[in-house]
Amino acid sequence: MGSTPRFRIALEILGMALTYVFLARVGHSFSAESNGISPLWLPSGVSLALVVYRGKYLLTGVFLGSLLLNCWAYIDFSTLFTIFPGLGAAFLTGVGDLICVGLGVWALERCGGIAGVFRSIRGLGVFMGYGVAAGALVSTVLGATGLLLVGKVAGGDAVTSGAVWFLGDAAGVLLLAPFLLSFTLDDEELPRGDAGLSERLALGLLVFALPMVSPLLRTVDLEFRMDFMVSPLLLTVLLRAGLRPALGAAVCLVAVQLFLLKQQETFGLSVNMTPIALHLLIAVNTVSLLVVGALLWQQREMLAKAVEEATHDALTGLLNRRSGIPRLEKELSRSVRYGSPLSLVIFDIDHFKDVNDNYGHAQGDAVLRDFSRLANRDLREHDMLARWGGEEFLLMLPATDLAGAGMRAERLRNQIAEASLGGKHRVTISAGVAQLKRGMGIDDLLASADRALYAAKERGRNRTELAGSPVPYD
Ligand code: GH3
Ligand code: MG
Ligand code: MG
Repeated sequence: MGSTPRFRIALEILGMALTYVFLARVGHSFSAESNGISPLWLPSGVSLALVVYRGKYLLTGVFLGSLLLNCWAYIDFSTLFTIFPGLGAAFLTGVGDLICVGLGVWALERCGGIAGVFRSIRGLGVFMGYGVAAGALVSTVLGATGLLLVGKVAGGDAVTSGAVWFLGDAAGVLLLAPFLLSFTLDDEELPRGDAGLSERLALGLLVFALPMVSPLLRTVDLEFRMDFMVSPLLLTVLLRAGLRPALGAAVCLVAVQLFLLKQQETFGLSVNMTPIALHLLIAVNTVSLLVVGALLWQQREMLAKAVEEATHDALTGLLNRRSGIPRLEKELSRSVRYGSPLSLVIFDIDHFKDVNDNYGHAQGDAVLRDFSRLANRDLREHDMLARWGGEEFLLMLPATDLAGAGMRAERLRNQIAEASLGGKHRVTISAGVAQLKRGMGIDDLLASADRALYAAKERGRNRTELAGSPVPYD
C-alpha cells in the first residue's frame, strides 16, 4: 500500500467518524424523550451501508465516531474525577455500535451480499437475525450499561429506554441499509415489476402522497391504527414498480412521520404517536416488502427457468423444435412480405448410431454437444440453429438464397470432417438445403430440405444436396 492510498483511507475513516456524529445529532433531534434516545437511529443503518460499499476499514471510523459522539454527550469535565464514568460509558457505547455494524457486515457476507437478502427468505432471515436483532441487542446492552454508569437513566426507566434503544437501532438498520445498498445493484438485479411509464408516474405520485396522508390517519381517533392502511399501497408499489421504489417510499413515510412527530404543536396536529408505534410501522412495512420482494424474485426465477427448459434442449442448450417452429413461421411471413429469400439446412450426423454402440451413450452425447458448439459458432444475428431431433439439426438462414445456404452447409460439413468431436471421434455429417418458393408453407419447406438430406444420404453421406437443383427422386 503506497502513501497516497493510506492517506486516502485515513481521510475516509475520518469522514466516516464525522458522518456518524452528524447522523447521530440528526437522530437525536427526533428524540422526544429527555434521555435523548432516538426513535430512529440513523447512524447504524447508514454506516453499515457505507462499510459494505467501501470496505471494512471504515469500521474504525464507526467506532471513532461513536466514541467521539458519546464523549461529547456523557463526559462531565467539571472535575478530573467525573471524567472517568463518562469516558467509560462512551467507550462501552462505541464498542456496542461497532459490534452492531460489524454483525451487520458479517451477516451480509454470509448471505452473499445484499442481493442474497433481497432474493431469498433464508438470506433475509440471516440478515434479520444477526444484522438487525443481534446487532441492536449488543448495542443496547452496552449502551444502556453506559447510561446507567453516568446516571442518565434511572433503574426504573431502564426497560423502556432499553426497548426504545433496541427498536430504534434495529429499525435504523432494517429500513436504511437495504434501501441504501439497493443502489449498489442494477435494476435487473432487484425484484421489480413491469409497470409502464404512465403507471410508474402514477405510483410516483402515490409515493409522494403517501407520507403526507399517513400521519393524518393518526389523527383519526379509532381503536385500531389507521396508518397501517398504507401497507397495501406500499406492496402495490413493490409489485408494480419494484423493490427500490417501495423501500424509498417506506423511508419517505418514516421521515415525514418523524418530522410531524416533532412538529405536531406547530401544525396543530395531535399525531398520537409513540416511538414504539413508529417502530412497529417500520418493522411491519419493511419486513413485508422484503419478504414479498424475495418471493417475487424467486417466482420470476422459477418462471424464467421453466421457460428456458420448455424452449431449449437440455443437452446442447440449442432451441428445441417446439420453439423453433414459431420462429420459422415468423421468418417465413417476413420473407413473403418483403420478398427476401429464406433458406433452411437440415444436418444429420452420419452413422451416429455407431458412436453410441461402440463407445456408449455418454460419448454420443459429447459428440452432439461438440457438434452444436461448432455449428453455433459463426451464426449471424437472425440465423437460428435448433436441435430438430436426436442427431438432426436445423439451420434457418434468412436473407440467404439456395447457393448461399449451400455454401454455409459445406463450410460446416468440412469443419466437422476435420474436427474430432467429443475428444476423439471423427464423424461426418450430411446436409439437405432448401430455399422457400412461392406458395410454400413451413411443412413444404421442411419436407423439401428433408428430401435433399435423404438424397445426400443415398449418394454416400458426408455431402450436401440442394433441393430444387436436379434431385432425381423428386
Ligand atoms: P445415418 O447415417 O443414416 O443418419 O445413420 P445414423 O446411425 O446416424 O442414424 P439412426 O437414425 O439410425 O440413428 C440415430 C441414433 O441417434 C439413434 C439414437 O439412439 C441416437 N440418439 C438420438 N438422440 C440421442 C442423444 O440425445 N444422445 C445420444 N447419445 N444418442 C442419441
Ligand atoms: Mg444420422
Ligand atoms: Mg437421423
